[in-house]
Amino acid sequence: MADESEELKVSAPPKVSAGIHAVTNALRHLYGKMGPIRATRGMLKLNQKGGIDCQSCAWPDPEHRTINEFCENGAKALADEATKKKIGREFFASHSVAELAVESDFWINQQGRLTEPMILREAGTHYEPIGWDEAIGLVAGKLTSLASPDEAVFYTSGRTSNEAAFLYQLFVRKFGSNNLPDCSNMCHESTSVALAESIGLGKATIRLEDFEKTDLVIVIGQNPGTNAPRMLSSLAAAKKAGAKMIAINPLAEVGLTSFVDPNPQHGNPLSVLGFRPAKLADLHLPVRIGGDMAVLKGMMKMMLERERAKPGSVFDAEFIANETAGFDEFTASLDAVPWEEIIEGSGLTRDELDEAAEMVIAARSFITCWAMGVTQHTAAVATIQDIVNLHLLRGAIGRPGAGLCPVRGHSNVQGDRTMGIWEKMTPVFRANLEGEFGFTTPERDGLNTVESIAAMRDGKAKVFFAMGGNFAAASPDTEAVADALAKCDLTIQVITKLNRTAVTPGRMSIILPCLGRSEIDRQASGDQFVSTESTMLNVQMSKGIFEPASEHIRSETWIVCRLAKATLGVDGIDWDGFAADYDLIRDAIERVVPGFENYNVRIREPGGFYLPNPPREGVFPTPTGKALFKTTPLEFVRVQPGRMLMTTIRSHDQFNTTIYGLDDRYRGIDGGRRVIFMNEDDIAELGLSSGQPVDITSYWDDGERRVHGFAVVPYSIPKRCCAAYFPEANPLVPLGSHAKRSGTPTSKCIVVSVEPTL
Ligand code: SF4
Repeated sequence: MADESEELKVSAPPKVSAGIHAVTNALRHLYGKMGPIRATRGMLKLNQKGGIDCQSCAWPDPEHRTINEFCENGAKALADEATKKKIGREFFASHSVAELAVESDFWINQQGRLTEPMILREAGTHYEPIGWDEAIGLVAGKLTSLASPDEAVFYTSGRTSNEAAFLYQLFVRKFGSNNLPDCSNMCHESTSVALAESIGLGKATIRLEDFEKTDLVIVIGQNPGTNAPRMLSSLAAAKKAGAKMIAINPLAEVGLTSFVDPNPQHGNPLSVLGFRPAKLADLHLPVRIGGDMAVLKGMMKMMLERERAKPGSVFDAEFIANETAGFDEFTASLDAVPWEEIIEGSGLTRDELDEAAEMVIAARSFITCWAMGVTQHTAAVATIQDIVNLHLLRGAIGRPGAGLCPVRGHSNVQGDRTMGIWEKMTPVFRANLEGEFGFTTPERDGLNTVESIAAMRDGKAKVFFAMGGNFAAASPDTEAVADALAKCDLTIQVITKLNRTAVTPGRMSIILPCLGRSEIDRQASGDQFVSTESTMLNVQMSKGIFEPASEHIRSETWIVCRLAKATLGVDGIDWDGFAADYDLIRDAIERVVPGFENYNVRIREPGGFYLPNPPREGVFPTPTGKALFKTTPLEFVRVQPGRMLMTTIRSHDQFNTTIYGLDDRYRGIDGGRRVIFMNEDDIAELGLSSGQPVDITSYWDDGERRVHGFAVVPYSIPKRCCAAYFPEANPLVPLGSHAKRSGTPTSKCIVVSVEPTL
């Protein structure tokens, strides 16, 4: 892959996030890629009721919306999708796949929208045009020739709409497999497992308005300034209403400390100029990488000591007695954890932990938010269950201003799971699906993402079908993933733009170009809309407004229906009807998925509707009907001398694997991505200097992995911790290293060493 770090400039991170720079940067992307008229039309519809749902993160929209209801990253995502740049057959004729494969992710993404189906034939060097009928026929033919349906895997990314996702999983299950890995496997699977066990629902228990009713917001392992920027408005609103905030994160991130609201309609019109920045975190705990569980256990151990010293002063005894189970076993486990281990694991002082615990005790209600800084660790599930334990001690679930807020990263990643995109099935979903469509679903669980990669590597999976996403760049262990894909007989990408996965092909590879969310989706019964679910369970419509990038691209829903018909033949399912009229899909969803009653009516109401959320109402749908204290021993990673812990991070100029630019304004990085953020003491101890190129080696049971030529950047990060951007650092993440019980790759905690590049 090309190295673009030569122009790298490093400066001090800014003192405030967002503000006028967010506005100018957003406009630069919008006007530069879309032109002023198209950009203005898009902006006026983005995140508006009945408009285009932002295809970037899953943060919900407020009930009352201003005319600029999006952030800098939402603007970048819209501009990236609605760009006027296109690539057609001439582009592919003049660039071999081998040539494309050495280009950077940034360059690949910059080329523009795909305009027609393309195929890389076996032993071919270039993608060539192919008609839809032939392409669909080839895929169907390959699928039906497999010895078992389980020799195919069907990946989904979080952009896919509810309607397309529902039909996709229906097709895959009717075909005979549960091999439905998704990007959730790589991000919030740990959350889904942990919360389902502890409170009976693997989702958030709050709504946006709770931020204005809370006394305290705890943000753990999340960088909202870059990854869910409009969350900063909610944090600022909470602060304005008097709340405190604790940020628990190894890196000092400006998006956690100070915010200038770039939307003048949110209050003071001059605020955008930075006159009154909102101070966010009152307390920043620079936790050692992998030390979140130690922090939580330390805070709860201190609270337990205080409660014992003065019974009734800290814990919500009534809530614990009536609504929970497992309290005695849990407190006994806290007693058994030595303070020395808590201090070592967290990398913090007892005073820092006490201060955080005092803030929790002082708060009548509190919200805890987290993201992949928590979920992508070996002990992620247990750590999230300690977050729940903290809330249960205070009765802080199911009342205003109190609850759990996992922040999902891709706009419909949660909705896709609700629609059945999962390698497993709940008994209710299985029974409803079988009842609605009259077939027996496959009983065995399918493969998750990590298992799918292993199956392709071992020759057990021969077809890889990706509904969106950029699997090769999103997955850990880049070389292993490339090898796995190369071993497939056929790889298929349903995508809007060229990406790394399309240039990391199997023996044969097909690109099926699809509509973006901002484009008009015309079908036989008229223009269609789709729907998505936010991280706070709000389901709303999204309707495109732009003419499609080409007359030869199709909607994801249409592609699924055509593929299903070609693969399954006449099977009693009205695939043509579904493709023609998405209302029919929503009718079927209503009969299969609990909570979608009257879907077609409620989705047309301005702002959509909320799915049922029992824990928010104080009801815990666990087998016992109680919220469960979960007891686990303290875990953290000890590193031997000469080694460090590394976390992967995103820059402000990227969304997931999509690289919009080479800058990271919030960390003072300009013009490069191959950097490693290190503590100044570590840099000195290793005899390194700022800007020096280094190699990074990671260590795992199966050996070492190495990346070369990363520039050293001094940064505020705990000693013996470091950070680098993904996907550049993905080759260091071992495929075999994943969270217990959820299988989420441990991309946030990798044991590495750093040496000068020779
Ligand atoms: S906060 Fe997320 S969903 Fe909202 S505009 Fe920004 S990127 Fe899009």
